Formats: sequence, C-alpha cells, structure tokens
Amino acid sequence: MRSVRLDVAALTTFPPVLCYHRIGGPLELGVTRAGRAVFARQMTALARAGWRTLSLSEFATPHAARRTFLLTFDDGYASLAEHAYPILADLDFTATTFLITDYVGRTNTWDVQYTWNRLQHLSWPQIEQWRARGFDFASHGATHRRLTWLDDAAIEAELRSSREALTARLGPEAGRAVAYPFGAVNPRVVALAQSARYELGFGGVRGNGNPLQLSRVPVYFWDAGDVPFGLRTDALGSLGRMVAHAANRCAVGTSLMRLHKKARCYRNQLRMPDQRVRKDSAD
Ligand SMILES: [Zn+2]
Repeated sequence: MRSVRLDVAALTTFPPVLCYHRIGGPLELGVTRAGRAVFARQMTALARAGWRTLSLSEFATPHAARRTFLLTFDDGYASLAEHAYPILADLDFTATTFLITDYVGRTNTWDVQYTWNRLQHLSWPQIEQWRARGFDFASHGATHRRLTWLDDAAIEAELRSSREALTARLGPEAGRAVAYPFGAVNPRVVALAQSARYELGFGGVRGNGNPLQLSRVPVYFWDAGDVPFGLRTDALGSLGRMVAHAANRCAVGTSLMRLHKKARCYRNQLRMPDQRVRKDSAD
C-alpha cells in the first residue's frame, strides 16, 4: 500500500459512494470501463487498508464506522457476474448494482453507439443468485433515459415501472434506491422519486445532503491508482473528484463522435465547476 491518506472527510452524514460501470470485457469508445486487473487491485488494496463495503441497508442507517463505503455499479452488465462479483465475494465485499429494468437479460441497445459491441445485461436468475449471496440490486430507471429532460409523466413512468419490476421479482428491499441515469437530477426528479416511494437517490459527484440526491464519485478509466479518488482526502482526491464531476456532467463514457463538443464541455467545466452545463453542450 502506498502512503495515501485514507480518512474520508464526511461531506454528508452518509459514507462515500463509489460508482463503477463496466468491469472487463471488450474495450469501448467511452471511459467508464475499468479493467478487471485494475478493479481487483483496487478492491484488494482497499480491503488490506481496512476498508469495508456496506450493504444498502447498512448505508441507509446512520452510523459512525470509519473506512466504510458503498460500492455501486451502474447499468448491470452481465460481465459483472464474471469479472467483478467473484472478486468481491472473495474479499467479503458486497455491492449494489443499479439495473435498467427493461434491459435485464437483454443486450445494450440503449447505449450500443458508445460501446460498439452488443453487450449482455445480467439476467434475473443471475441477479437472484448474487442477491442470495448478499449483493443488493436497485433501480437505474426502466430504459436509461435522462430524467431531467423528460416531462413529469415520463419521469414517473420510468421511476415507477422500474421499481415495480424490481419489487415484483426481488421483494420490497429492491425498491428502496434509484441511481439517476447520467447522474442527472433536479428538484422535480427528487420530488417524483419521493412520490414513487424511493428512499435513496444517487446523482452526480455533488450531492446536497438530501437522501434522494446523494453524491457518488464515478471511477473512470484514468482513476486507476490503488485508492480511487472518491475515497481520498488529499489534493489528488479533490482534483480527481473535480475531473470526475466535469466528466460526469459532460456524459463522457459516451461517444468520440462528439469529442470536440465534449472537449469544450470539459474546458468549461474545469474552469467553472459549479456552473451548470448548457443543455446543448451536454450529451
Ligand atoms: Zn447508466
């Protein structure tokens, strides 16, 4: 373990949350895929340094334990069952995976333009198998639409149908949390998530303390040190979180075809991290 300060400044009363997307499998145009070896090294280093993962219900219960974090995966690709969950189980770690419920057991037609490949999502039997081993599953919407751009009825449909699919198949615990696609959330989305009976909502790098607008730090491919930026309190961690914020706002992890537009977006974001991206320069 390198000499890295590991104590996390509690910005909210909730422990830190890391967000990975795809682990292993084919390379892609975007930046959200982490190599299996990098992921294994990071998790092993965290376990050796005394970090422990929380279940979703432990996370939701206020407590003062140090060196705990919520490990999350978005999109629910099938490769998690091959490349990520076994590594975690060996370390006695757990994770929460946010599923795009209309795509469970299907290929990723929703983002095939970013990955080039038709990738398989986890199936319900795989999900149930890992759930029996203590892994949590929750909502990432029904079809991965950016909720902030939808009208109220469409947001409600995304949130409710996803929650219904999860609770019907996995029971009420699976209806507690939602990770908003692209981390895109605003007060209107929060209000609708609350009326759809979600208790926890995960947005982008910057939360506001509201349990339905919690922060998460995405781990992009450049975040390949032993301790991901989201769990570091040093200057590198701050810088890494700022870059992750800019990347998340610009929805990298997406397409090189719009690289020029995105490069402009990053420049704007890094210069003015607190300002909102204009809709026409976001993804
Ligand atoms: Zn997603």
